Amino acid sequence: MSWTVALVLESHWPVYFSFAWRGPRDFPCRELKVNESAPLPKAAALSSISTMEDTKPFQGLRKIIHVDMDAFYASVEQRDNPELRGKPLAVGGSSKRGVVAAASYEARRFGVKSAMPGATARRRCPELLFVPPRFDVYRDVSRQIHEIFARYSDLVEPLSLDEAYLDVTRDQAGLGSATRTAEEIRAAIHRELGLTASAGVSYNKFLAKVASDQNKPNGLCVVRPQDGAAFAATLPARRFYGVGPRTAERMAKLGIHTGADLRAQTLEFLDKHFGKSAAYLYGACRGNDERPVRPDRVRKSIGGERTYTEDLKENEELREALEHIIDIVWERIERHHCAGRTVTLKMKYGDFRQITRARSVSPPVQDRKGFAELAHGLLDSVLPVSQGVRLLGLTLSGLEYAAETSGRPAKIAEDQPVQNRLGF
Ligand SMILES: [Mg+2]
Repeated sequence: MSWTVALVLESHWPVYFSFAWRGPRDFPCRELKVNESAPLPKAAALSSISTMEDTKPFQGLRKIIHVDMDAFYASVEQRDNPELRGKPLAVGGSSKRGVVAAASYEARRFGVKSAMPGATARRRCPELLFVPPRFDVYRDVSRQIHEIFARYSDLVEPLSLDEAYLDVTRDQAGLGSATRTAEEIRAAIHRELGLTASAGVSYNKFLAKVASDQNKPNGLCVVRPQDGAAFAATLPARRFYGVGPRTAERMAKLGIHTGADLRAQTLEFLDKHFGKSAAYLYGACRGNDERPVRPDRVRKSIGGERTYTEDLKENEELREALEHIIDIVWERIERHHCAGRTVTLKMKYGDFRQITRARSVSPPVQDRKGFAELAHGLLDSVLPVSQGVRLLGLTLSGLEYAAETSGRPAKIAEDQPVQNRLGF
């Protein structure tokens, strides 16, 4: 079915269209990069890419919501401690070498960001309050958020503790509109958990994710099918999935600054310069992205990494930064009920040179202590560093899943009957 039909259906729900697309804002690049799902979009075979010029741009019109909690750790702390409300707050980063894990919106106004050294944050905002992170609490809240998601869709793909994609094409809650579904989810989170979330609604993951960032905090943005290509064209290149600062720099040298600039290039050109990302970029800058929402994705690896606003040089600050990454990655390992044999440390220097160090063990890593020992062993093998480190990451691979999840086939959105009854 083409989206022309969906436009007709939309007119049944005029009340939901007041959420006009406000046009892209150029948000600062996020410092925390989550790589637990996939390192880069798997490039489709070059011949199978659909384009807006194709007669069948989509296999079926999907309705995807991306929900992202606002300043999650900091908001949970402010919720649980009224004295912190309305004040500039940093979670983590209080120790001498600590790095800020999350900043409240009050703190962000002073230029305090996550992944920033605590000392820099304090300089930018002398009255900044620091609280230690409580990952157990954040995990619990995340579980509660997922209970709310489950009322609206069976197809939920978590990206991190506070972010997820929902495929609501099937309209499980019978609300008749993806936008209304997103509003109900945001309202339920606020009512039941006392926290705010932002949501993006669109017909694919890429646009839904960009949209959720558009009207943050406590905002909603809908990118409807007829607006998708124009919306993608106006986005800065670095807001495309998989485009980091380095790739954005390379793009700028080629005169590519926006989605429209990407769109002006041929697939062959993109393939020559951006290799395996080419097919994805070619589709995304036209508003296309066919990646399904995968609730039970069988992962080959689980990892996490952080890019720091200032390069880390001292052994102790690197060890402390690694400890935080161990926390993040171990939480994901536990959530996926898996064990793994290989731990890989990734390190990127200030000049973008990257090294990896890996170690495999048998039997698989059993607990956080074992994981942390391997990780620190790998880090120690490259210390001291000759120049500053801008990124640290850890991955666990060679995964074995717990009995209850093994062998279960990945349930993906495209297996589900697509019903275009649901409007945007
Ligand atoms: Mg968030």
